[in-house]
Amino acid sequence: MGAVFKILGSSSSGNAALLQTIDFTILIDAGFSGKRLDAMMAEIDVSPDDLDAVFLTHDHSDHSAGVRGLCRRSDLPFFANRDTAKAIQSNLARRANWKIFETGLCFEFRGLKVSPFAIPHDAYDPVGFLFEWGGDDLFAPRDSLAWVTDLGFGTGLVREKIRDAQTLVIESNYDEELLDRDPRRPWALKQRIKGRHGHLSNRDALEFLETIESPRWRNVYLAHLSKDCNEVSRVVETFSGFHRKGCEFNVVDPRNGNLCPVPIANKTKVYG
Ligand SMILES: [Zn+2]
Ligand SMILES: [Zn+2]
Repeated sequence: MGAVFKILGSSSSGNAALLQTIDFTILIDAGFSGKRLDAMMAEIDVSPDDLDAVFLTHDHSDHSAGVRGLCRRSDLPFFANRDTAKAIQSNLARRANWKIFETGLCFEFRGLKVSPFAIPHDAYDPVGFLFEWGGDDLFAPRDSLAWVTDLGFGTGLVREKIRDAQTLVIESNYDEELLDRDPRRPWALKQRIKGRHGHLSNRDALEFLETIESPRWRNVYLAHLSKDCNEVSRVVETFSGFHRKGCEFNVVDPRNGNLCPVPIANKTKVYG
């Protein structure tokens, strides 16, 4: 059986994805209420009781709001680094079953190799994840997934971690023009979003991915779009001339998690 990977939702207001193989069912981030997560999982026939673990990138509520509801299951492990666990726990009445990892150190969970790596973002100790599994026999070829949302800028470390992943989820957070025009965000907040510990614009995301030659990507998801300061069509337009051989690009609709493919434009150069 191959892996099932499903982004339940991704935007500035909530992020969570489900990864399921024969050996484990995990959530990557839990940025919706417990109730909402239950409903999203029910749509793909997964019950909260099926979950074996939750992996958290950082404490911001669009990644952690569901811990409160999920930690009703006292046996469910929540993997996070110390600062992230501490920040999330400070808002909970009940103690979650924390499993603390060190940023930068790999560990294993049920045959899943997990590499949490540092990313520049304005949280306590934010990480991206590289997950690798399978490869033990012919029927379970080696597979991998990189999850990198909330990124002020693309670092050499992030480049190294995402290059060989077969599936990549990376943020394409805002359109510069829409952010500048947005009447609801004060100037200081706009500067924070654009800053080196904020988020990647569509153009930043494109320029970063362009620096990565010969990646092993098969599926790239452009995610964590701002509902107010971005549009799926603008991300599609930004990425329409960009291709990597054998790779499909999809934009995750911030309103409903639906995927919108980036069509391969004619006469564009296909890079190896
Ligand atoms: Zn964040
Ligand atoms: Zn976020």
